Amino acid sequence: MEVIRETMVAFPHSGHDYGVLLTRWEALANRVGLTLSILCEEGGFPVIVIENSQALAGEPEGIYLSAGVHGDECAPVWGLLHWAESDPAILRTRAVVIFPCLNPYGLVENTRRDHRGIDLNRSFENLECPLIRSWTTFLEGRRFALSLNLHEDYDAGGIYLYELARDESRGDKLLTACENIIPREMAGTVDGSDFHRGLLTRSGDLEKVVEEDLGGGYPEAILLFLRCCRDSYTFETPSEHDLVTRVQAHEAFIAAALQETGEIA
Ligand SMILES: [Zn+2]
Repeated sequence: MEVIRETMVAFPHSGHDYGVLLTRWEALANRVGLTLSILCEEGGFPVIVIENSQALAGEPEGIYLSAGVHGDECAPVWGLLHWAESDPAILRTRAVVIFPCLNPYGLVENTRRDHRGIDLNRSFENLECPLIRSWTTFLEGRRFALSLNLHEDYDAGGIYLYELARDESRGDKLLTACENIIPREMAGTVDGSDFHRGLLTRSGDLEKVVEEDLGGGYPEAILLFLRCCRDSYTFETPSEHDLVTRVQAHEAFIAAALQETGEIA
């Protein structure tokens, strides 16, 4: 009962309430001077993108943040919002582009796929999908130092991380920063891939991974890494855990990853 009461205090609304999410992002954008644009309309909902003035000015070495690609994974969208609402300094110092929820239909319906039945995270190369066309056009000419792609896994018992890194691996440090909130997934195999203490680091042979393991469809993180991003991280929380704890884990992950990046950039 205590957990339920605490969850209701922290979340007086459903984790799948896109209206509340939009209202909070609009208020934040107005308050701190971020630019909110409608990327496109999908399944009856506006898909939004947020930029700060440095991103609008085309400053290089930007930060890319994205949540809500899979609608049945609701903690990431709130973790990303809470992080932004905490007034992080990086929103005033580096180019930052935020996709608060790329699949609002899925979020509202609590389903992984979009209103066409498409798994967007196996479709980021597919220009026949209107959302992907808009996303691709928006990103033309932009370069990022880092992307954080936030997800959840209903089979997982702990947090884990896919790391795509060109230089040093920071993944273990980032998991360490979050494991006091939710422990690491310690299984050697997660979602069909080999992990070590919750971490899978890759840098090459990604086309082969997409072809052999992902049915030929590109996830957001891999396409960003191949096209316009130095390092990409996909962070996963176990979606059967308590919602407030999962939201806190995402918030902690974003803060830790950006602190690390701020230090090395
Ligand atoms: Zn996902």
